[in-house]
Amino acid sequence: MSQERNQYQPDTNAVRISIPKTDQMEHSSPMFLTSSFCFDNAEEMRATFADETDFNIYSRFSNPNVDEFVEKMCALEGAEAGFATASGMSAVFAGFMSLLKTGDHLLSARAIFGSTHTVITKFLPKWGIETSYFDMTDTAAGIEAMIKPNTRMIFVETPSNPGLEIIDLQLLADIAHKHNVILNVDNCFASPVLQRPIAYGADLVTHSATKWIDGQGRVLGGVVVGKKELIKEIYTFCRSTGPAMSPFNAWVLSKSLETLYVRMERHSASALTLATALENNPHLLSVKYPFLPSHPQYNIAKKQMSGGGGIVCFELKGGLQQGVRFLNSLKLLSLTANLGDSRSIASHPASTTHAKLSEQEREISGITPGLIRISVGLENVKDILEDIQQALDASK
Ligand SMILES: *Cc1c(COP(=O)(O)O)cnc(C)c1O
Repeated sequence: MSQERNQYQPDTNAVRISIPKTDQMEHSSPMFLTSSFCFDNAEEMRATFADETDFNIYSRFSNPNVDEFVEKMCALEGAEAGFATASGMSAVFAGFMSLLKTGDHLLSARAIFGSTHTVITKFLPKWGIETSYFDMTDTAAGIEAMIKPNTRMIFVETPSNPGLEIIDLQLLADIAHKHNVILNVDNCFASPVLQRPIAYGADLVTHSATKWIDGQGRVLGGVVVGKKELIKEIYTFCRSTGPAMSPFNAWVLSKSLETLYVRMERHSASALTLATALENNPHLLSVKYPFLPSHPQYNIAKKQMSGGGGIVCFELKGGLQQGVRFLNSLKLLSLTANLGDSRSIASHPASTTHAKLSEQEREISGITPGLIRISVGLENVKDILEDIQQALDASK
């Protein structure tokens, strides 16, 4: 893909970046469902294996559809390079395993995705990688004080899943760079449309493409983009260990990127409408949304995000049992373990995704008993709001 394809505004690049046309002159990129690629002769094959050409060899290493998706993600995030993986978790894992070794220390925010927490607490210690957590509300000095001589990476999710906690990326990048530590940001909730961590100094940006990037709940995918020399390590690790994104999923996800900007605008606008309308609902203790002035880190959100995103959280008055009754009273919203879909989704972390944690563990992760997470879809916001309101009335 030539450099000049990356010359436009990000929303144009998301639509227009594509692999070169074949002789058929197709308008839409075809799907390259092939495991391997051919060579004209032995010399060309030798040169390709010796890294003297950039021809494709095998789809575990690279594939045209995957390249197109990665190229777009790099353009959207303002990154030098990237590598796409089979899921968001394989992207998170590849980032850790390729850049951390026995004796290194990973400093992570406590408010992170459940499976990332499992990787950090259960698996990294098995390989002698030290880990510790800071709180999203810790002061810059407090976080800096947790950096050790062997700290190699800071990992953070902002806004966090599911608690929507937000941290100042610029501040974190300054701390990381002062100590020569890699800043790796899971940008899943904001998407590159609403937040570009590299512009604030992040070295790596990790995504679950399964969520807003797909946007229609169809395929799994993940991607890491960032500094060329770091991505090279991730590529080398993945090329041999095999978490490659399938060409089919890459084709789907690249098509999805064409509509990401218009979708995120609509998701954000509807979510803000919903959050504002629910703020004074008598059945709720609180409503949390990055672009509500009542959000504790509202000023940071306004500074580093161009929209609040599609997730709204609220706390029911009746706690755990009330959460279960609320889910049972919904008529339109789906009960499903995903987010970032065109269809609105409600989830109750305390009785589902975080049910295995102790009450105390949930509390320090910001999962209160009556916490409901709404992934605001593309339906008419009036219907979404009415369904939530009738379920709140019916379940009180
Ligand atoms: C879903 C999610 C992941 C994991 O992605 P998968 O595609 O499900 O593997 C990682 N981080 C965040 C913030 C997520 O929401």
